[in-house]
Amino acid sequence: MTLLGLGLMGYVLADTLLAAGHPTTVWNRSTGKGADLIGRGARRAASAGEAIAASSLVIVCITDNNAGRELVQPLAAELRGRTLINLTSGSSSEAGDISGWAAQHEIAYVDGAVLAAPDGIGTDEAAILYSGDRDAFDQHNSVLRKLGTPTFLGNDPGLAAPRDVAVLGMMWNILNAFLHAAALLQSASVSATALAPVLEGGIATTTGWLAGYAEQIDAGAFPGDDATIATHLAAMTQLIDESNARGVSTDLPRQIKAVADRAVAEGLGRSSYAAMISQFRSPE
Ligand code: NAP
Repeated sequence: MTLLGLGLMGYVLADTLLAAGHPTTVWNRSTGKGADLIGRGARRAASAGEAIAASSLVIVCITDNNAGRELVQPLAAELRGRTLINLTSGSSSEAGDISGWAAQHEIAYVDGAVLAAPDGIGTDEAAILYSGDRDAFDQHNSVLRKLGTPTFLGNDPGLAAPRDVAVLGMMWNILNAFLHAAALLQSASVSATALAPVLEGGIATTTGWLAGYAEQIDAGAFPGDDATIATHLAAMTQLIDESNARGVSTDLPRQIKAVADRAVAEGLGRSSYAAMISQFRSPE
């Protein structure tokens, strides 16, 4: 197995496969990374081309797909007849482009999305999504299982990327809300450390709502039998007022309220929170 890229994620991927007993060849653009992997039996290739030539399975995990294309496209001849698994985060259109290029050069291509932090790699909790060449995925499944829990989504290489960014988008929204809450409570002399468990409880409560709201979205019916958008809207106003009073940024609270304002203006005030899906869809 060959790993191109020994950044925070690539290093752990290589480390995990090496620890699982797979012969591992590594390459990184700048020298110096991964010395301990070499000490434990990994082979360091002098060039990306040499690294590719060492294995039938090549995993690339670098900053982004622009860098990825610049790296692999000049090496089409070396990659011919091998499997390229791309664990670099990217978009579905990038996955389609790279897949098309790979097909022209008889390279089996699988696009992947790592829904885990480096410290989760190698555990069942590390969800890794794959889409693209099913035969190549099946052929290397036993290796991929060592990295986490693999899920194959289908032959369209663009299937993994949107799920990746959807999960990241949700995480960023939660983290921004955490940072806003920490700033708000800091102004009331409450430390972020004291706040964290309170917010974890709130996140757990919200998590419990998702399945029911998802059913409402799929059914297109939004009974406001838990709390209506109008009720939420009143509390959103309080969040803005409290933030203003404490000299904390109101950017995020105003953005949240603006969505609810538009929904109420469209007559959705008595509906459940999930009815605001209308504010996130593409205009028809
Ligand atoms: P990182 O620590 O910043 O490492 C970036 C890697 O990309 C380094 O090995 C770097 O090489 C290499 N690189 C950058 N530009 C290059 C180029 N033009 N040619 C060749 N190599 C190049 O990033 P990371 O955290 O490992 O992330 C790598 C990928 O994993 C990203 O797509 C990221 O979104 C994804 N991912 C990361 C995490 C995470 O928690 N870290 C989680 C899920 C997914 P040099 O050492 O020479 O700079």
